[in-house]
Amino acid sequence: MTRSEHIRALLAEYAAQRSADEADQAARIQRACEMAPEIADLRRQSTETALGAMRAILTETSPQKRTEAALAMKARGKAINARIRALLAQSGLPEDALEMRYRCPLCKDTGYVGDAPARFCDCFEARLRLRQYEDGSMAGLDEQNFDRFDESRIPEADGQRDRLVKARNLCRQYADSFPDTEYRNLLLTGEGGLGKTFLLNCVFERVCARGFSAVRITAFRMFEAMRRQHMGNDPQYEGFSALIDVPLLLIDDLGAEPMMRNITVEYLFTLFNERTAAKRHTVVATNLTPVQLKERYGERVASRLLDRNACAAVQLKGKDLRSL
Ligand SMILES: [Zn+2]
Repeated sequence: MTRSEHIRALLAEYAAQRSADEADQAARIQRACEMAPEIADLRRQSTETALGAMRAILTETSPQKRTEAALAMKARGKAINARIRALLAQSGLPEDALEMRYRCPLCKDTGYVGDAPARFCDCFEARLRLRQYEDGSMAGLDEQNFDRFDESRIPEADGQRDRLVKARNLCRQYADSFPDTEYRNLLLTGEGGLGKTFLLNCVFERVCARGFSAVRITAFRMFEAMRRQHMGNDPQYEGFSALIDVPLLLIDDLGAEPMMRNITVEYLFTLFNERTAAKRHTVVATNLTPVQLKERYGERVASRLLDRNACAAVQLKGKDLRSL
């Protein structure tokens, strides 16, 4: 198969996944309504409230009345949602029982992210690579997965090879045992060209191949998601909350993102704090040393990143493998 044939087949697979997600949600809603019939009524009220407010916003000429209508709808919606949550809890159902559940929260199982021009989501790229790899059409290309790890390319001097093999074993074990890993987080440190990004991509590839939802993102793109969230001018954009929610988040090249006041450190703290509280897994690759991480992000962020109880730290040393 050619690459475009693979893409077509994969897009069809994603469309089927979306339908499955929707059917799954519909089944969960139906079950919840059977267990607590009031939920069905509350959901109808919620829709009516939203439509009523929409009508008021469209027909009201005074801006003040429009604002009032919007605020009233918000308050009413909040009350309805609180009642639904209470009913779900009473029925022993999870808080998100009525929500859509995506395999990949970043692209919502569409395979695309971003505005025009949209691009393929990392999950799509990973599945595409996997298809092509299994198909044999990628043979010979420098793939970033554990099977492509070539010890013989690494210098033996100063223990560089031993260190990298050990790091590979640790990462592979992490990816194979996910989500029941020994340590929840993984921190890969060391200068550029020592194989951190390669290992991070290997973990991503393996965890995706095992069918789990993961997001791999460069710190630079992560910063973009934080900035957009902070500006709040795009309410449809849920990139940052997707980063909080995804079961496995892999951040490459932390430290390469811009430092912007009220954004970088604050949002990074929120991200790590919420992920830690929810016991979600995070892998970070960075050129910065632990001391530099503390200097750049401060104690609160660094302590969450470097927490010895939750994080396995791998420090790579040696010669730049790209120059060999
Ligand atoms: Zn995706």
